[in-house]
Amino acid sequence: MSEYHQQSSVEVMKVLDVTNQGLSDYDVQRRQEVYGYNELAEGKRTSTVAVFFGQFKDLLVIILLIAAFISFLLGEVESTIVIMIVVILNAILGTVQHVKAEQSLDSLKTLTSPVAKVMRDNRIMEISSEDIVVGDLLYLDAGDYISADGRLLESYNLHINESSLTGESLAVSKSTTPIKEEHVTLGDKKNMVFTGSFVTNGRGTVIVTAIGMETEIGKIANLLDTAKEKKTPLQVSLDHFGEKLALGITIICLAIFTIDLFRGRELVDSFMFAVSLAVAAIPEALSSIITIVLAFGTQKMAKENAIIRKLYAVESLGSVSVICSDKTGTLTENKMSVQHVYVDQKVIPYDQLHVENVIEKKLLLKALLCNDALERDHKEIGDPTEIALVKLGKQYNLDELIVRDHYPRVAEIPFDSDRKLMTTVNQFNQQSIMITKGAVDVLLPRILKVETSKGIFAITEEHRKRIEEINRDFSMNGLRVLAIAYKEVKKNLTIDVKIERDLIFVGLIAMMDPPRKESKAAVESCINAGIKPVMITGDHKITATAIAKQIGLVNEPSEVIEGYEIEGLTDQQLQEKVQDVSVYARVTPEHKIRIVKAWQEKGHVVAMTGDGVNDGPALKQADIGVAMGITGTEVAKDASSMILTDDNFSTIVKAISNGRSMYTNIKNAIQFLLSGNAGAIFAVLYATVLGLPVPFAPVHLLFINLLTDSLPAIAIGLEPHNKNTMKDKPRDIHTPLLNKTFTTQVVLEGLLIAISTIIAFRMGLSTGDTLTASTMAFATLCLSRLVHGFNSRSRESIFTIGVFTNKYTWFAFLIGFLCLHLVLFVPSLTGVFEVASLNGVQLGYIYILSFMPFLINQWYKVLFVRRK
Ligand code: ATP
Repeated sequence: MSEYHQQSSVEVMKVLDVTNQGLSDYDVQRRQEVYGYNELAEGKRTSTVAVFFGQFKDLLVIILLIAAFISFLLGEVESTIVIMIVVILNAILGTVQHVKAEQSLDSLKTLTSPVAKVMRDNRIMEISSEDIVVGDLLYLDAGDYISADGRLLESYNLHINESSLTGESLAVSKSTTPIKEEHVTLGDKKNMVFTGSFVTNGRGTVIVTAIGMETEIGKIANLLDTAKEKKTPLQVSLDHFGEKLALGITIICLAIFTIDLFRGRELVDSFMFAVSLAVAAIPEALSSIITIVLAFGTQKMAKENAIIRKLYAVESLGSVSVICSDKTGTLTENKMSVQHVYVDQKVIPYDQLHVENVIEKKLLLKALLCNDALERDHKEIGDPTEIALVKLGKQYNLDELIVRDHYPRVAEIPFDSDRKLMTTVNQFNQQSIMITKGAVDVLLPRILKVETSKGIFAITEEHRKRIEEINRDFSMNGLRVLAIAYKEVKKNLTIDVKIERDLIFVGLIAMMDPPRKESKAAVESCINAGIKPVMITGDHKITATAIAKQIGLVNEPSEVIEGYEIEGLTDQQLQEKVQDVSVYARVTPEHKIRIVKAWQEKGHVVAMTGDGVNDGPALKQADIGVAMGITGTEVAKDASSMILTDDNFSTIVKAISNGRSMYTNIKNAIQFLLSGNAGAIFAVLYATVLGLPVPFAPVHLLFINLLTDSLPAIAIGLEPHNKNTMKDKPRDIHTPLLNKTFTTQVVLEGLLIAISTIIAFRMGLSTGDTLTASTMAFATLCLSRLVHGFNSRSRESIFTIGVFTNKYTWFAFLIGFLCLHLVLFVPSLTGVFEVASLNGVQLGYIYILSFMPFLINQWYKVLFVRRK
């Protein structure tokens, strides 16, 4: 049998048993049962069991296990059991955290799975790419990712970028003509399309010939790259810091070990103590805290319509200082409705047209023919600008599909936002009529004649002026204006953009796209947060200015410039200029990249929105590329680090606020971990230097490590977002997290905890019983660290942010508190955990001492931390 590329489209349809109406539901089901889903096999995931055992790979844990084994050999079975329990509980906790974080990231991924447009049962519908079956009729538009292999049935100026398969970076032009040769390379199969490529231009219809692992890319790439999410910059820098810190702590522990030996302590005891101290003091949870906070934070953001695609972007999100946003759909509703029409040299309100009037009807018909949008059963498919025209036609009983059936389309040049024009050629009985619609300033210079009810005349300067004047009036009211023109062309002419000239002008159609009601407040909130909002639009300067004024984005006309003005500026000049510009009109995607770069050169962190296929490079260049979830192309989504499921500008502002809060929470959690660990180290150092007995038994340190590290730190990471975050200026991305202020705070907080612990230890020693002393030290260190969790929630006092506003911190505290008391008072545990029985007074002192660091910390915050 011949190959698909050799067959005619009719033959392929026959072989695959499909009609023009597409497959029926029954066909689809049957094919799915036989051939499965359109998926590329994924690499194996690490199983939960593997994750669990992975927790034991840590060097410290291995040392601990060795220590447990040695204790066992020496007959100290109890301490072996305790160590084992602690190590296993730690591993369970680590596994749960890992699995939870992974689950929430997975659920984000499913939210962004690609979709495809297919014809089934004579209806065009959007389905998840996974559900495509062989034989489906797939509709391709500029910006679509191709998710199955197929043979082209229709191709209008269709250009496809196949670089992921062939390495060729230029888009290739596709056609439907069969190819004679049997063996041709992928790149030469001009009538086929392949999974993994994308449409850069034009439109086409394809019949699917292969899915999933049967596709060309499926054959090459046996396994889908399930490469792990790369670490965020903060994680990388914390990993480095963690390594240095671990080295420092190991040196301290070695020193303590040596001193202990010299003082005549048993080798095994000294060793166990040093190892436990290292385990307790090294914050192994640092970078996993970040993953957890980000994983949960991004889930929350997804519920608020912002889907994060690249975790590391969240960190820069909090530092965004410029948002460059599209106008249409982002700041406005993207619900266009025609307001006025200019035809036959008159401005007519949209509801007062007369279809009996030949020229008025002509305008309406042309607006429906040079148009791809559909409205069926109140469902709208297509570009809102074109839907507005379809709705206008419906008001006058002109149905778009009937009209299009009557005057069939024979050729077209699809709309693209660089050209700002769209052209179709339709058959009117014997005549081929080319219809062009588009931006007035682009179309007007291509007009040769004007049609009115009195006939067709050569265009005069006066006509031109009048059209420009009307266009300006419309635009000043924030209306988007389209001009419609036509000319007769030769039959079967192959058309390209050069033909869009010498046209006959019919009229203008002006439509309104009102600003979203939340835009004004969002713009204001940006300005208060030190973020510069910038509007970038393909629309006319005057329309853009009118809308920008309504939402409080511009005050002075000098803040608005047009794309072509950028072209006259050098990069240096543009950098000087960007600060003063709030609106860029008539912009092309190339201008967008220059704007982003200019801001970045000035040291800013830029979020940039995009929807079109050409927006990819600008989205990648921006620190946060934001794609539109509703109107955005798959290509734009793929290039972005965040997707807005509601296309709404205010969602970006909310996301930035979330980004800021997440960063603060991460910082607070780290501060909590480091300060608590510093407390333990300081206390041990104090005792060692003064030659006092060892303040803690190894099990104490392991117990503290288990209870006071992960849970409270995660709880702090999940602190509810503070509503004042958007009153601050953006965080400077170059300031390291672990700066001087941070380190000073860690040391001071650590000292407070250490002082309480030492006082408790001293009190215990005064009874003459070292076991009581170490019990008091242990209980105070543990409890003061648990209470310290409340301090670390915010830089503000707990009374300002609300004592009960973070239920997780209470949960972590109560669990810790309970476990500590079990250990202190349950007789069967006291032996295992090497604690003395305490009297009420001693317990009272432990409570008071554990509370002291909290009191001092809160006292300082109440008095000295600026309230916002
Ligand atoms: P924004 O950049 O704010 O999102 P936009 O992307 O909608 O705006 P474009 O779609 O690039 O802007 O439109 C630019 C101009 O092209 C519009 O002002 C309009 O005059 C014209 N235009 C828009 N849509 C069409 C269309 N479907 N057919 C013909 N011309 C169009």
